[in-house]
Amino acid sequence: MPQILNNALDAVGNTPLIRLDNVAKLHGLKCNLLGKVEYMSAGGSVKDRIAKAMIEAAEKEGKLIPGKSVVIEPTSGNTGIGLAMACAIKGYSVIITLPNKMSLEKEAALRALGAEVVRTPAEAPWDSPESHIGVARKLQQEIPHAIILDQYANVNNPLAHELTTGPEIIEAVKSTPSTPTRISSQKVDVIVCGAGTGGTVTGISRAIKKTHNKECFVVAVDPEGSILAFPKSLNANTEGNAYVVEGIGYDFIPDVLSRDPADIDEWVKTSDKEAFNAVQVIMRNEGLLVGGSSGSALSGTLKWLKKRTDIAEKEGLNVVVLLPDGIRNYMSKEWFMNQALHGERTALTDTIAKV
Ligand code: PMP
Repeated sequence: MPQILNNALDAVGNTPLIRLDNVAKLHGLKCNLLGKVEYMSAGGSVKDRIAKAMIEAAEKEGKLIPGKSVVIEPTSGNTGIGLAMACAIKGYSVIITLPNKMSLEKEAALRALGAEVVRTPAEAPWDSPESHIGVARKLQQEIPHAIILDQYANVNNPLAHELTTGPEIIEAVKSTPSTPTRISSQKVDVIVCGAGTGGTVTGISRAIKKTHNKECFVVAVDPEGSILAFPKSLNANTEGNAYVVEGIGYDFIPDVLSRDPADIDEWVKTSDKEAFNAVQVIMRNEGLLVGGSSGSALSGTLKWLKKRTDIAEKEGLNVVVLLPDGIRNYMSKEWFMNQALHGERTALTDTIAKV
């Protein structure tokens, strides 16, 4: 990489893969637990990658005109932030339709980047005119030169992960040799990702299985309340329940989420409580400022490893968990205030109170 980057888009991706040794120890794991830390990307999430890829592809196809085009996108926020960042640099207008359950921080970042934000009812079914998708379509009809890049169906969504996120993980694991104290298979043996559009899990799976290790076990994580998990029976008890975690889960199956059983080996469901507890565990033990869906991914990983003791207990196997965004997206949320911010009292807290 050259030392001077051309603009912020050159600082998208190339995120670190970081050992989660303290969490592994806490849970008695012998396998390596590795976190792909996506909040270190320029816009703060894994979705910067697809925003950049979708904009660049649309430009190549001649679909965007600086000063004229209006990019409209329904998103849970992070794709919007990536798009707003790219459009700020390139001179396109942006409108983001954002379900009202998404954090104030995401809306603030979007507005700061110059985007218009339209809030929509989170409880509106995806195919209703009031949903973030319905409102985006309506706006597109009304506004000249408007375009929806459509992360739910755009091939550049999974492709961005097949071409960047996946290869970065493979390269990091392949190029880190074993040492006497750190044994490594130098392969990605297990990868765990939460699914929203499903682009991340689909693209990473394709990269790993096609080019690196076709035996790699791919686990997708879906929040309770969502219907993405397969087989469908996994969703039966909680389908339609409201959940607080942002960016994962849906009430429809996006086109970009692979339904090929060869791409995703198993689905795991997680609750808000499990997710937010896990966020606290990562922050307090690894010093990583991860967001809510990172907690879902880690708690899903730990749940799955509890069943798969053959993997959890095998030294040298590499279990990679994708951590999609950072806690700075969620500092005004009740779950952060109530749970993550106020830990248990320590001896120091008591001493401070006395002084
Ligand atoms: N976590 C967060 C915080 C997200 O914003 C998203 C994107 N919706 C995801 C996870 C899931 O990524 P994907 O859409 O690629 O499945």
